[in-house]
Amino acid sequence: MYPFSFHHTQKITDTVSLKKESPEGKYIAGGQSLIGVMKLRLDKPSELINLGSIPELTGICVDGKTLTIGAMARHAEVAASADVKNCIPGLSQLAGLIADRMVRNMGTIGGSVANNDPSADYPAGLLGLNATIITNQREIKADDFFLGMFETALEPSELIQSIRFTAPIQSAYAKFKHPASRYAVVGVFVAQFPGEVRVAVTGAGASVFRLTEVEKALSNNFSASALDPIHISADGLNSDFFADSEYRAHLIKLMAIQAVNQAQ
Ligand SMILES: Cc1cc2nc3c(=O)[nH]c(=O)nc-3n(C[C@H](O)[C@H](O)[C@H](O)COP(=O)(O)OP(=O)(O)OC[C@H]3O[C@@H](n4cnc5c(N)ncnc54)[C@H](O)[C@@H]3O)c2cc1C
Repeated sequence: MYPFSFHHTQKITDTVSLKKESPEGKYIAGGQSLIGVMKLRLDKPSELINLGSIPELTGICVDGKTLTIGAMARHAEVAASADVKNCIPGLSQLAGLIADRMVRNMGTIGGSVANNDPSADYPAGLLGLNATIITNQREIKADDFFLGMFETALEPSELIQSIRFTAPIQSAYAKFKHPASRYAVVGVFVAQFPGEVRVAVTGAGASVFRLTEVEKALSNNFSASALDPIHISADGLNSDFFADSEYRAHLIKLMAIQAVNQAQ
């Protein structure tokens, strides 16, 4: 591990100012991705700016059909929250499927979204639910946020404060887990809103993406049988030791069917 300075602040404004003063520095939330990257010496931030003592980044609240989750909410907290379960059961289910107990107790929604790992679960939930990412300087729709592998629309010092969701009619997440890491080999989030169905896929491409053909079919008929005639092309999908692109294409359809059945 390289040497670095560690900073604590309690206010968003101080935190962002510190980050602006140290361009080689990084925010640290649960550390579940960043510390691993540092141990592998793939990154060596000069400063770590801890987000764990900022009350404004915590909490989960519901107002009618609007659910807002603070960036520092741990995966375990989202999975266990009665508000999340009542408002968006598919999101609660997704959080409970992330990694293992230890990672769920440390990792945060803000860290996962900012990291945009191509196999992470939350990006599928945010894109499928048409969520809004609220930062210290603006609001960004999920459709405009996830730009590519480990790449987002965040500017260098921009801080995610919270994520806002609107409750769908029904939703669910189905995931085919990697047996060792439990990251998604393929994960599919399905959400039905009045007049619209959204379907988002993680694990299969360079970044999370929507499946417009499946969305159209489910908008006409929200049932697993609507997916019978659909063929998912393997073109452009990830291929690796565990799953080639053809297998991932097969898994996308299978996970979409499972998610629709679970949602119902
Ligand atoms: C063994 C293992 C298994 C895992 N399995 C899964 C899995 O199955 N599914 C899954 O989705 N994930 C999985 N993860 C990743 C885990 O969910 C992490 O919690 C998540 O990727 C990062 O969240 P974090 O809070 O730990 O962020 P950190 O590691 O602290 O930070 C990650 C990055 O985000 C930035 N950042 C953090 N918070 C903010 C913020 N509020 N605003 C702006 N930038 C910010 C940091 O600067 C850093 O660049 C796994 C991790 C491990 C170690």
